[in-house]
Amino acid sequence: MALIILEDCIACDACVPPCPTHSIVADDPIYVIDSKTCTECVGFAEVPTCVEACPVDCIIIDKDYIESEEILLEKYKKSQEN
Ligand code: SF4
Ligand code: SF4
Repeated sequence: MALIILEDCIACDACVPPCPTHSIVADDPIYVIDSKTCTECVGFAEVPTCVEACPVDCIIIDKDYIESEEILLEKYKKSQEN
């Protein structure tokens, strides 16, 4: 699954540098995560680095976009090809 940013986002930019897949972009008024490239940090870290970086805990699992560990690993491998 991918993660999603809630309306509580204060647009502080703290989650952008730690994201290994460059999946987080600034939108108006809040930041958004590209579910096509977010691996939930599978392949990169034990826990999502964006979640750890967010000061207001507004990044959560997107229950409407569930993906298996296998699919997330495939996305990770694809990210290494670029
Ligand atoms: S979970 Fe990982 S890959 Fe997905 S947006 Fe957060 S930092 Fe980026
Ligand atoms: S770290 Fe949290 S509050 Fe800051 S831009 Fe990212 S999602 Fe928004």
